[in-house]
Amino acid sequence: MANSKTHAIVGGLSGLAVSVFDADDHERTAQNPILATAVGTFFGKLPDVLEPALRNPHHRQFCHSVTVLVALGYGLKKTYEWKPQDNIEGVLRCLMLCAGAGYISHLLLDATTPRSLPLFGKR
Ligand SMILES: [Zn+2]
Repeated sequence: MANSKTHAIVGGLSGLAVSVFDADDHERTAQNPILATAVGTFFGKLPDVLEPALRNPHHRQFCHSVTVLVALGYGLKKTYEWKPQDNIEGVLRCLMLCAGAGYISHLLLDATTPRSLPLFGKR
C-alpha cells in the first residue's frame, strides 16, 4: 500500500516525466524540471490532503473516485491537445499537465490496493 512518501515520489516523478517528454519547440522555454517535480509532488499528495487517511479506513470518497480519475484523464487529454499561443500559456499548459499527472498517479496507486477506488465516493 502506497504511503505519503510513495505518493510524493511517484507524483514528483510523474511531473518530471511530463516536463521531459512533453518538450517540443514551441514550449521549450516553458519546461522547468524542478518546478514540474514540485508541482507533481504537491498534486501527488493532494487527494490525501483533501481526504486524510488518519484513523479513517474509508477516507476515499469523491476526491479519490473513479469519476474524478476519468474527468482528470479527459481534462489532461484536452490540455495535452491545447496549442498555447504564447509563453505564459505554455507555462500554464505544462503546470496543468504536471498537476494532472501527479494527481492521477495518486489515484492509480490507490486503485492497486485492496480497497481500490469508489465509483463516486460513498460505499
Ligand atoms: Zn489516497
